[in-house]
Order: sequence, then structure tokens, then C-alpha cells
Amino acid sequence: MLKNKTAIVTGSTSGIGLGIADALAGAGANVIMNGLGSAAQNSDAMSRVAAHGTAVTFSPADMTKPDEIAEMVAEAGKTNGAVDILVNNAGIQHVSPIDEFPVDKWDAIIAVNLSSAFHAIRAALPGMKARGWGRIVNTASAHSLVASPFKGAYVAAKHGIAGLTKTVALEVAEQGITCNAISPAYVLTPLVEQQIPDTAKARGITEEEVVRDVLLAAQPTRQFVTPEQIGALAVHLCSDAAAQITGANLSIDGGWTAQ
Ligand code: NAD
Repeated sequence: MLKNKTAIVTGSTSGIGLGIADALAGAGANVIMNGLGSAAQNSDAMSRVAAHGTAVTFSPADMTKPDEIAEMVAEAGKTNGAVDILVNNAGIQHVSPIDEFPVDKWDAIIAVNLSSAFHAIRAALPGMKARGWGRIVNTASAHSLVASPFKGAYVAAKHGIAGLTKTVALEVAEQGITCNAISPAYVLTPLVEQQIPDTAKARGITEEEVVRDVLLAAQPTRQFVTPEQIGALAVHLCSDAAAQITGANLSIDGGWTAQ
């Protein structure tokens, strides 16, 4: 379905991004992977995606650095002739009351979770416009629609991504380019796993209780979303069947934001 298309997936050495990269390669796309994982983690992730038989390369661009993001997009265009699909997925988290929120953590979350998407879209759009075809998929979050306490920077960045998605969609609506956001609820990735022991300690409960009573409490299905389910949605958004889906913020959250 995506044969001869080239996709950049930021933050794809782990978790949701790896699920999306895997699904896009499975649908025939060549993939440029990216992330700040260890050499071993990066090479494991690349082997998994390359098993589909499409071209897989790696960009070490740091999503806090606008010049490295522009270079990643330019390099991908040079090597592969085009960037047809851009998935802005890299993300980080920090949990703290707003009046104690470390300023450097705020700046880093806004840079990785919001500004990196602006820089990558800005760099990739001219090529998509020239070819009259493009797909931009932004990994937002249920936190692009609702808030939770102690996640001020994350919620602000994800609400920002929802707005950026709509704006870009409107600007390029007549040029064969779509821009959408996917908004998952909890997915059991390293980003979430790291929060479990701290939350257990902070609340004086077991890790099992954190999963059931804290993480999945607002998720009516009481099940984690999986990277494979998100990958399948991303593939659909990149297909020609989804040409009229643009500016949407698609929830994949077990009913969380229906409440
Ligand atoms: P993860 O920690 O498993 O993966 C994050 C990826 O981003 C990794 O590849 C990491 O190396 C990369 N990354 C982090 N900082 C980077 C930087 N400065 N430059 C380049 N790459 C960087 O996390 P995940 O849970 O898979 O999260 C992926 C996205 O999904 C994030 O945007 C996150 O906000 C969003 N999300 C996650 C959940 C969840 O429950 N896990 C829910 C909703 C949305």
C-alpha cells in the first residue's frame, strides 16, 4: 500500500514510534528511524523494522535541536528522493506540581513534544507540496483533549500539537497533503513503565494497584492500548483511503475521553 513511499518516524527506537515504524514498513514504506536510545537498542529496533524488507536507515537527530531536525529531513530527502510521510512521535514526560516544575524540564518537554513537530513539518512541507502528496501524523495523547494534575508541560505541549495539526491541515488542504493527530491513552511503553515505581512510592500502594487504580482508572476498557493498534491507525491515515481525513484528532483511548 505504501510501496516506494519514504517515512520519517521520530522517536522510533522504542514504544509507540517503533510500533508505527514497524507498521509502515509492513505496509511497504522505506523508513528513517530516529531516537536517543543506546546503540544496541537502536540496532535492535532497526532490525525489527528492516525484517519487512524495505529500506531502513537511522537519523540520530536530537529533537530539541532545530538544526539537527532540519538536517534529518534534508538528508532523508537526498538519500530517498523524498519525505512522503512524516510521523512526529518523539516525546518525554515529567510529573511535578506546577509551582515546583523544574524550568529545564518544562523547556525540554515543550521542545521535544511540540516544537520538534513544527521544525520537522516546516522542513518537510516544501517537498510534499512539490509532489502534491504528503501525510503528516502527529502522536498527540488523550492529554491533548483532557488534563491530569502534575503534567502541566506535557498537557500544554499535547494541546499545542492538536492546534498545530488543525492549522497545518487547513494550510495544505488543497495540495494532496493531510495532517492528523493520533491521541492514545496509556500504552505500556518505557515512558509509562518508568512512572509506575515512583507513583507506587508516592501513593504508598503496590505497582499492580498503580496500574489498575491509577493508570487504567480512567480507561473504561481497563486495558492498555498497544503500539500495534496505533501503528495500524497510522498506516490507515497514510493510505489513499484516508485522503479526506485531515485536521482530525483521532482518539484511541479505550473510551477515556468519551466520559
Ligand atoms: P518511549 O519512551 O517508549 O519512546 C520515546 C521515543 O522518543 C524514544 O525513541 C526516544 O529515544 C525518543 N526521544 C526522546 N527524546 C528525544 C529527543 N530529544 N530526540 C530524539 N528522540 C527522542 O515513549 P512512548 O510511550 O512510545 O511515547 C511516544 C509518543 O507517544 C510520545 O509523544 C508520547 O507523549 C506519546 N504518548 C504515549 C502514551 C503512553 O501511554 N505511552 C500515551 C499517549 C501518547
